Amino acid sequence: MSSTQPYTDLGSWIARRAAISPDRPAITFGDDTQTFGALSHRIDCLAAQLREGGVAVGDRVGYLGPNHPAFLVTMFGCARAGAVFVPLNFRLTGAELAYIIGDAGIGTLIVDASLTPGVDAVRDELAVTRWIAVGTVDGWESFDAVASASEPITDPAAPEPSDVGLIMYTSGTTGRPKGAMLTHGNMFWNNVNALLSLDVTSTDISLVCAPLFHIGGLNVTTLVTLQKGGQIVLMPAFDPVQALKLIADKHITTMFGVPAMYLFMSQVPDFETTDVSSIRYLVCGGAPVPEPLMRRYGARGIPFAQGYGLTETAPLALVMSTDESERKIGAAGNKVVPLSDVRLVDADYNEVPVGEPGEICVRGPQVMAGYWRNEAATRAVIDDGGWFHTGDIGTADADGYVFVVDRVKDMVITGGENVYPAEVESVLYSHPAVAEVAVLGTPHEKWGEAVTAVVALKPDATLTLDELREHAKDRLAGYKLPLRLEFVDALPRNPSGKVLKFQLRDALAE
Ligand code: ATP
Ligand code: MG
Repeated sequence: MSSTQPYTDLGSWIARRAAISPDRPAITFGDDTQTFGALSHRIDCLAAQLREGGVAVGDRVGYLGPNHPAFLVTMFGCARAGAVFVPLNFRLTGAELAYIIGDAGIGTLIVDASLTPGVDAVRDELAVTRWIAVGTVDGWESFDAVASASEPITDPAAPEPSDVGLIMYTSGTTGRPKGAMLTHGNMFWNNVNALLSLDVTSTDISLVCAPLFHIGGLNVTTLVTLQKGGQIVLMPAFDPVQALKLIADKHITTMFGVPAMYLFMSQVPDFETTDVSSIRYLVCGGAPVPEPLMRRYGARGIPFAQGYGLTETAPLALVMSTDESERKIGAAGNKVVPLSDVRLVDADYNEVPVGEPGEICVRGPQVMAGYWRNEAATRAVIDDGGWFHTGDIGTADADGYVFVVDRVKDMVITGGENVYPAEVESVLYSHPAVAEVAVLGTPHEKWGEAVTAVVALKPDATLTLDELREHAKDRLAGYKLPLRLEFVDALPRNPSGKVLKFQLRDALAE
């Protein structure tokens, strides 16, 4: 490796690891396991092919597909070639996808064979020049052929920490996803912060079942485990039964998931009897871990580490170890990660006193460069002092632990009082008839907004508004109790399991 290679360069992570432990297992997918040496070789071959195909420094390469080794080979290969990697959400279809592919200016597009028909349907609208399928598809080059067509790259790009490595679109929980520009430095420093705050070892075997195209699936345990020299086991997509089976079969030691995934796993009938003794701890983020869920896993000897962050912060901003997680039950994150700053501010950007709610702001080397081709949106979230405004409300306690309260956008204002849905939801979840619940504000003539509970019932269960209010009234102030109850079969969720409240809001407005 040339001595001018910046140590922060994402493209060099696997090459450097392969130089240390080439024969250690890196990625397992189905029955296949690639060592670090083999992975590094494949990455460098793909990088050479991308360059030979005309991909220049800064060009965007898109990847659309479920979790697969090709995703990671492409990401690292792009970095080796100096290209910008753009992971795409495979739940998006047709017009949405065409919009993002056009917006990002993707020239080379790599698509899982299962998803090429959807792309072919909008092919005429795309300015893509090279079409590569993971699998065998008519009219597409094959990824395997491409990745073995050239000798490994000998003069990889040497991106600076400030160069963009990925454009990663946000989850679209509150509306249309935004393209966060993550630099090589962002990726590197997030990994350093993760290694400094989570207990990661080179003998870890991490299950990857959250989508890699989301920051949580990619950057919380996946890349951290790889850079540390541990092994990852990829699942194409999350399935609670399969996840439990893999934990037992592959002796999984840790994984990243969102609470919904852990909830669904705990509802599998085999949950109590599956051998989970290899698990050291689970990492949860994206939303707070409800206390009953923590207890269920605790009963099986499994602790949680928790984290809070956003795509825009690559993502770690707050992390809580397993011990702290036990001590501060209900806290959604805890102390700021070592190499970053966090503060809570009011509407005038003044820091709020201990215990008072304020918007969580993050500053540090993991904060994105900005939104892709959207200067106005960038200026709206990153202030002159370099603070990124998250749009989330939190409170801090005297020990410096930050409790994430809710999104600014989701707060319900009823009769002049602020109600944070997450607090109400955690109480309603304990009602025995409730399988899933989301709380949101709906327009109300007298109170401005009405606290509204949208519930998916457990099989054969029934529930009335009065029963729900009665259940919650000892634990919630009167104004926080639901005024309206609506039922759905299941809550609308995005691929990482987050409830799409804007969809519920639209549906209720009709
Ligand atoms: P969009 O910005 O497109 O609406 P999104 O904000 O859901 O989507 P992500 O960047 O994937 O996209 O998610 C970040 C958000 O997830 C945070 O702003 C916060 O609201 C929520 N979040 C993340 N971790 C936690 C946590 N531990 N507790 C509570 N909320 C969390
Ligand atoms: Mg967001």
